[in-house]
Amino acid sequence: QAKVAGKNTYRFYSRAMNEAVERRVHLENELRGAWERGELRLVYQPVYRLSDQRLVGAEALLRWRHHEQGVIAPAVFIDVAEQSGLIDVIGPQVMRAACGDAARWRHVRGPDDEPLFVSVNVSPRQLRSGDLARMVEASLRDAGLAPEQLHIELTETAVISDEAHASSLLTRLRSLGVKVWLDDFGTGFSGLSHLRRVPVDGVKIDRSFVADVLRDPDDLALTTAIIAMAHSLGITVVAEGVEKEGQYALLRERRCDLAQGFWLGHPMEFDEFAALASEPAVAPA
Ligand code: C2E
Ligand code: MG
Ligand code: MG
Ligand code: MG
Repeated sequence: QAKVAGKNTYRFYSRAMNEAVERRVHLENELRGAWERGELRLVYQPVYRLSDQRLVGAEALLRWRHHEQGVIAPAVFIDVAEQSGLIDVIGPQVMRAACGDAARWRHVRGPDDEPLFVSVNVSPRQLRSGDLARMVEASLRDAGLAPEQLHIELTETAVISDEAHASSLLTRLRSLGVKVWLDDFGTGFSGLSHLRRVPVDGVKIDRSFVADVLRDPDDLALTTAIIAMAHSLGITVVAEGVEKEGQYALLRERRCDLAQGFWLGHPMEFDEFAALASEPAVAPA
């Protein structure tokens, strides 16, 4: 196509491509060692149970505070980490830090409060690396965190791209006592039938469905179907991206189990989450 459009267009394309590649390589170099320089850190987004509106845990989300560019979103740098293999280093650092934080916020809770879970995102490459289960086990042991308090989020697409391997790995993780959730559920077109073969504890309904649940009858139908089907299989349903009270009320009415989103709480620093965890924890409703 570039050739047909002429030489100048071709030059333009190749220059733009070179710049994109250079930016990527640059980002990759900067990302190397970013954890050690203290530029990477985890923030926590509260997760609530809809039946009694209580705080039950948090999702750990990575932030990169670049010395020049400010905060860079994971949508940009996780991909770079994944492609370059840096995720093999950052992934275990994230797991270790999240388990450590979750063990620490246990102490701000009353003795009768139920323990809060931490939910950690694991990328497709980590799923393929042979020693994920061992890495998780070591992180739990070193942090002194009960396995039940750790949830691992894997994307639906990563799991279905290698179902046999994923299934045996998930079985191993779950035998440790860790819970496994499928993230961004509904976007991968895997269909509900996969849930019979892939052993998971929960699905997180993608926020693109939640966004339109009040306006778009198709999204409401899909969300309702996911909830019904998951429940019939004994699987927990989490809604992400709840931004409005109406969405929250509707999901509650449809018996969705858990929810997170800007309306309930933005991702926050460890200290802020620990303060929230120490309060009698009822959703802002
Ligand atoms: P995700 O796991 O689906 O995480 C949810 C994303 O939705 C987060 O974006 C969160 O900040 C955002 N979010 C939460 N509530 C709302 C809401 O009400 N409205 C909207 N519009 N967005 C909301 P974030 O933190 O930018 O992370 C993006 C993605 O990057 C994550 O998607 C996850 O796939 C990946 N990611 C983040 N941290 C890690 C990590 O430590 N390791 C790996 N492998 N991936 C990570
Ligand atoms: Mg997630
Ligand atoms: Mg998600
Ligand atoms: Mg729609």
